[in-house]
Amino acid sequence: MGGDFVFDFPCIMYVLLSSRYALRGWHGLPFGLHDRKSGRNLLLDAESFHALSLCDGSTPILFPLVPAPLIDRVKSHIREGLAQICEPGTALPDDQAYRKTESRFTDLVQWSITGKYNLPCRHCYMDAPKAKYGELSTRQCLEIVDQFHAANVGRVALTGGEPLVRRDFWQIVDALIEKGIVLSQLYTNGVLLTDQTLAEFERRALRPTMVMSFDGIGSHDWVRGVAGAEDKAVEAISRAVQAGFPVSIETALYKGNLRRLKATYALLKELGIISWKVSRMMSTGAWARKGDQMDAPRQALFDAYLELGAHHHRDGAPFELALGGLYYGPKGSSLWMSPFNKFSGQADAAKQTACQSCRLHPYIMADGRLLPCIPMTGSQVEQDMPRLTETTLSRGLRGSAYFDRIDTRLDQVFVNNRGCRSCAHRFKCGGGCRAAAMTAGTDYFGADPDACFFFRNGYDEKLARKLKSSPASPMEIARARHAASLSKAPAAFIGSQIDRSQPPASERRTASAMAFQDRRRFGLACSLSQILCWRWRRCEASRGVMGNAMPLYLAG
Ligand code: SF4
Ligand code: SF4
Repeated sequence: MGGDFVFDFPCIMYVLLSSRYALRGWHGLPFGLHDRKSGRNLLLDAESFHALSLCDGSTPILFPLVPAPLIDRVKSHIREGLAQICEPGTALPDDQAYRKTESRFTDLVQWSITGKYNLPCRHCYMDAPKAKYGELSTRQCLEIVDQFHAANVGRVALTGGEPLVRRDFWQIVDALIEKGIVLSQLYTNGVLLTDQTLAEFERRALRPTMVMSFDGIGSHDWVRGVAGAEDKAVEAISRAVQAGFPVSIETALYKGNLRRLKATYALLKELGIISWKVSRMMSTGAWARKGDQMDAPRQALFDAYLELGAHHHRDGAPFELALGGLYYGPKGSSLWMSPFNKFSGQADAAKQTACQSCRLHPYIMADGRLLPCIPMTGSQVEQDMPRLTETTLSRGLRGSAYFDRIDTRLDQVFVNNRGCRSCAHRFKCGGGCRAAAMTAGTDYFGADPDACFFFRNGYDEKLARKLKSSPASPMEIARARHAASLSKAPAAFIGSQIDRSQPPASERRTASAMAFQDRRRFGLACSLSQILCWRWRRCEASRGVMGNAMPLYLAG
């Protein structure tokens, strides 16, 4: 028994798991903890799990009934706020008790609750005005929420189309709340994000990150196909920020808005957003039919990314910024990286899964089909995917064509793609993004043309040189950090959503106590560079990485 035990804790303790947490398990990953506030599902090492299993309020934690190392672990979890000493016989509520599912582990599910949209955008990847993918009935949606519960899903991002056009939107949200599933992000164009809508979120104590589209100063109206759309979008961003919601912006680049990138940066900085993701217009859906001639040339795009990345770095990173796969910089930090360099030259990269994000963030299409990620909408893989109206999420996530796709290993990419197999950059690039390969017109195993351009034209070195010659001013970083700490969002909500720069201390400690049980066996990420991907709008690889997934992975 350790000396500090005598002074800090009683000889016999009864301990209860904190009300914020619940014990969970998944197929092959039985030791997990669900953070009921943020919705994050975290993985524990076996010892932490067993220690927390003792925190049921009625098990006496006493040496030698409980081995000393386990008692020490209980004590450290008490210090971390995961559990607290209680009166003997205090009951652990049912919804905090261990619940194991046969489903695969998920970090977050992206769910398109409708294929309908309220603007005639030129670049819609799902042909929304025609609602090609339709939408499920209220009953079917509520059944899917039940499936989430059965699969121990912790967090959901609602997307569309435009999710707010559904009349039963709040019914779906309330069903999620009832099942203890956190709505962590809402993808919206902002048209229906009125004061009343924001008040409805407040009333439910919900503060999802509002992920809003903004196609740049002077371009938004043209892309959205409606005069005045830009003013409305700016108003909506401002309204959400003022009401204390974290706002994240996504911008799709084409010839027309490339030269206004810096002006758009300045506007978004002034508006007080938390992150900005910039990517090229995807050559799918409506854009593929009529917009390609407006695509930005690759070199112009990459050079613009270089310039803006350096500017962001110098500027003290006032918000999180992702520029295609070329640059990623977290808020208020002088750190940066290139998501294109996914595997950092690791020799064992061939055994890794081609996209870590696909494994952790399933996407449910508006018609109820599972898909590895949103950017694969309309691709050749769509056809074989399981429908949640015919199977369950738990079954769909495992033995199905969906699983075959998300379990694609790099060596499979190399076997099927001679160019990548013999490429000098393969253990950095890993063949790039599967969705990008298909969008470029090759098959699922094809090369990603943006990744090729990046490596073959030395943009990794160019970026390193550029940022070295644009050092961040310490003053700017201090200013950005200060601004982050003064964010209008109440601290409790910032911590529970995705404020990537300021995770609460208790969560950082929690994360540090956790580890993947067996990283290699399950093929999950073991380094930051592998899980980052900022390729596409709505590519979930890009969301929640710094604030949500990273602590989990760093712990492993
Ligand atoms: S995508 Fe291009 S750069 Fe990447 S491994 Fe394949 S051939 Fe090489
Ligand atoms: S990197 Fe993003 S877009 Fe590409 S396959 Fe992975 S999740 Fe999909």
